[in-house]
Amino acid sequence: MDSKVPRGPAVGIDLGTTYSCVAYLKDDRVEIITNDQGNRTTPSYVAFTETERMIGDAAYNQVALNPVNTVFDAKRLIGRKFADESVQSDMKLWPFEVISGINGRPMIVVTFKGEKKQFAPEEISSMVLIKMKQIAETYIGSEVKDAVITVPAYFDNSQRQATIDAGEIAGINVLHIINEPTAAAIAYGLDNHFSITGTRNVLVFDIGGGTFDISILTIKNGGIDVKATAGDTHLGGEDFDNRMLNHFIEEFKRRHNNKDISKNPKSIRRLRTACERAKRILSSSVETRIDIDYLFEGIDFSTIVTRSKFNELNADLFLKCIEIVEKCLTDAQMNKNAIDDVVMIGGCSRIPKLQQMLQELLNGKNLCRNINPDEAVAYGAAVQAAILSGQGNDRVQDFKIVEVTPLSLGIGLNGDVMKVLIPRNTTIPTRATTSLTTSIDNQTKMRLPVLEGERARSTDNNLLAEFVLSGIQIARRRVPQIEVIFDLQANGLLNVSARDKLMGNENSIAMKSGRLSRDEIDEMIKKSNKFKADDKKHRKKDKARRAFKDYICVITDSINGRDMSSDEKKKKVEDGIKEAFRWLDAAEEPAEVHEYEERMKEMKLIWEPISAEFCRESDVPCRREN
Ligand code: ADP
Ligand code: MG
Repeated sequence: MDSKVPRGPAVGIDLGTTYSCVAYLKDDRVEIITNDQGNRTTPSYVAFTETERMIGDAAYNQVALNPVNTVFDAKRLIGRKFADESVQSDMKLWPFEVISGINGRPMIVVTFKGEKKQFAPEEISSMVLIKMKQIAETYIGSEVKDAVITVPAYFDNSQRQATIDAGEIAGINVLHIINEPTAAAIAYGLDNHFSITGTRNVLVFDIGGGTFDISILTIKNGGIDVKATAGDTHLGGEDFDNRMLNHFIEEFKRRHNNKDISKNPKSIRRLRTACERAKRILSSSVETRIDIDYLFEGIDFSTIVTRSKFNELNADLFLKCIEIVEKCLTDAQMNKNAIDDVVMIGGCSRIPKLQQMLQELLNGKNLCRNINPDEAVAYGAAVQAAILSGQGNDRVQDFKIVEVTPLSLGIGLNGDVMKVLIPRNTTIPTRATTSLTTSIDNQTKMRLPVLEGERARSTDNNLLAEFVLSGIQIARRRVPQIEVIFDLQANGLLNVSARDKLMGNENSIAMKSGRLSRDEIDEMIKKSNKFKADDKKHRKKDKARRAFKDYICVITDSINGRDMSSDEKKKKVEDGIKEAFRWLDAAEEPAEVHEYEERMKEMKLIWEPISAEFCRESDVPCRREN
């Protein structure tokens, strides 16, 4: 899976919880690619309507009108089970529906073109990836097949695997999955310290919309060595927004006779958007207003929120961030004075209180803010993509990255104990082996639960997969020797194999616990291609519809308030216009392209002979389109 052979231009994609960003290294310069709206980051939003699917800004802009069919936060669901505590708590705040699907996987339910449809989180993420791929293709001017995709350092095996699956569904050859802070450190290293000889210890503080990541890395002779990572997959800007949201829901209740706006998804969406805006403003101003007309049951909502109120509402969350930084320093066995640089990335790294608390923790150390917090991750991913596809100059090619595993990996033994084979923060890729034996006489089968996590008991850790080695040589207990091998790739993906040393029989497994099967992925690729074709068809229809409508509007403008030589002729045009509008309004779905073209032809037959006459009489040049 790692480092597949690239086939053309390779880009770096920061697939964010809330915003995504794509970058490309060209002529030894990294370009952050702007989308069709001129924005350098694209909302990780997908919307479904009666007529079409929208991705990115278009989806984000219509969210208040269509909250239940606008999906975001797929990254919070990817690679998780429906029953996960975090999924259960997130669901309470999502306006879209999530249900439990095959193997306890979460499925998102939306109404699309009048029908209920279910999507796996991988499919939603693949749609965002398709958008990012298209943005890159428009800029580069050729097809883009290869990409490096970023994930939070704390993502576990199944979340990483699911991200690769999303790439595959989008038709992307995933060259590598890279940790977001490592990507940011690459950007930082290339921008600032590449020529520095000696060693620098860098702390990357990444707080985005949904996740918080801390990494301590060492930049040495142009290479990056990740010393330790820590984080929380469930801590970020949306949590800060939610704190404000809940505060205002209560305020609304207090002011308006206990009226509960949380029952109305549209009201909640509008209030949430206003909270996010307020949060951003409070990073540069000390207070701001929230004004929403007709928020709930016709009641307007207007209030003032100060930065100190915002800080108070989030005080425990901010503190949690700082505690995680301390934990990471301990893991890296590093004194806080040993940190040379602090790199702030992720949209929420702009929050003044967080900056202040971090600075206090680090004895007043200056925080580096000269890299763009929204773009650094995609920048680093683009460099990695260039390295893997052999592009870029020697300076880029020499950049070596060494990463560590974020969670310990091991197997479950009798008595509910986890035996660790690869401790967390081990440099990857790595291999570890251990020898096991049978616990009863004549035991021919052995069950091996593969686990991930830091707890002592097997049952408290994350079960990645369970596999069975059968055909063990018949013998007294404790005689057979079973060799277990853990092979952890540079991607952070794990392969496990077990072998009976005497019999030589072997069983191996790539960790895909609860993940999509090959058939399911193939099915999703088919579905995705169909959507792509549908989108294209829809855009063509929409273009034809607009061309026809524009034509009718131009004629309407031309005849309005003007006289014509004959009332009969004018009436004929007016009837034609009336009929055209009636037909346009009656069509529930866009009609076929040829229908618009036929209508246009008919209208031209009516209008063109008269328009000539009309122009002659009034001596005004005629506005004509098409
Ligand atoms: P992700 O990588 O999780 O998609 P980003 O790094 O793009 O997230 O950060 C998005 C988050 O940053 C959002 O919650 C957004 O509201 C927040 N954000 C963006 N700008 C600011 C700002 N100026 N102050 C505070 N928060 C901000
Ligand atoms: Mg991010």
